[in-house]
Amino acid sequence: MLAAQGGEACGGNARGVSRFPFSTAHAQAVGVVAAWMEEAGLSAGCDEFGNLIGARPGSGDGPTIILGSHLDTVPCGGIFDGALGVVAGVEVAAALRESGRGLRHALAVVGFADEEGHQFGVGTLASRCVTGRIPRERFASLRGRDGRTLAESRAAFAPGLPRCAFPERAAAYLELHIEQGPVLARSGRRVAVVSTITGIARTVVVLEGEANHAGTTPMTDRRDALVGAADLVLAVGALARAEGAPAVGTVGALSVSPGASNVVPGRVELSIEFRTTDGVQLRSLCTGIGVEAHQVAQSRGVSCHVGDWDLRDPVPMDEGVQRAIARAIHEAGHEPFVMPSGAGHDAMVLAPHVPSGMIFVPSAGGISHCPREWTDWEDAALGATVLLRTVMLLDEANLRAARVLPSHDAS
Ligand SMILES: [Zn+2]
Repeated sequence: MLAAQGGEACGGNARGVSRFPFSTAHAQAVGVVAAWMEEAGLSAGCDEFGNLIGARPGSGDGPTIILGSHLDTVPCGGIFDGALGVVAGVEVAAALRESGRGLRHALAVVGFADEEGHQFGVGTLASRCVTGRIPRERFASLRGRDGRTLAESRAAFAPGLPRCAFPERAAAYLELHIEQGPVLARSGRRVAVVSTITGIARTVVVLEGEANHAGTTPMTDRRDALVGAADLVLAVGALARAEGAPAVGTVGALSVSPGASNVVPGRVELSIEFRTTDGVQLRSLCTGIGVEAHQVAQSRGVSCHVGDWDLRDPVPMDEGVQRAIARAIHEAGHEPFVMPSGAGHDAMVLAPHVPSGMIFVPSAGGISHCPREWTDWEDAALGATVLLRTVMLLDEANLRAARVLPSHDAS
């Protein structure tokens, strides 16, 4: 399996998968999946951004139905996140070939090179390049953790496949993915159709107090920036809880200056992130924590600066594609359960350009991005079956004129 391409020790007893874009492990994985693609009747190649694409023509001249997900992982990740959607896409092609069933539409299976953003600091990098949201010049000049530019990494990336292009005329994009949360596993459900991919708002808050001697400064005289930050951490959680699921709020990074056990903290910088599927609610959370931050600053005698919000609105999945997935789930003998995605995916980048949909299968214990990530093989197979049936339903429908992806307009 793909776990063999990029497995390494990750501390403790756990071994995980660290398959970073354009690494040797990535090239090996691309080679393995490309061979599977060829067996399944797909012509495999790599595009200019390093994405693996296996394609076969349809019987008509209709646009392409694209199945995909990503081949990269976080450091010490699991074997399912991303890889499942790519491998399931190849299985769909193989099943169609074995059954001798042709499609009117062309079919393509895509393994995006970089979704996690670990190496170059930009999430969903590869799909954003394909859709033109990251211009070629920026793609080329991004610098990775190893000091090389993306252009240099791409040039050195040699999986031994012919160069090909991302489908220009796409009818739909479908992504099977593990849920990466506890909803399905906890409810005993085995498959779901995704309604919306969460919106995300992030900022950095700086609290400035006064660094002073921790032994001689009375408690009443302190302007402790970390105590203010502690209030703010609690406020982020309280605001998200008050809104209810699926709203979540996280302070995931905190830096304390000067950071010594005998000094009252003078300055703290902390990240704040909110996620929810309602754009209005997302903005109200941002406003709410801004008010809280200034109240905290006042009560703790520190100053406070809330940085600009990096706000990405929720992305709804296409209603027609959702209906097709729901029907496929029903035909597979399951209730078409609908749920949002709390994680970002390539589908949210493709969705503004191509009607897109996602299928979720359970993550055991709601665990992901770690070696213990697990999905029962029966559930993975059910997801692939739903993916196959959705492709057939979409192929039978008269899909509307394809939308040309902007990066190809420019070329
Ligand atoms: Zn993923």
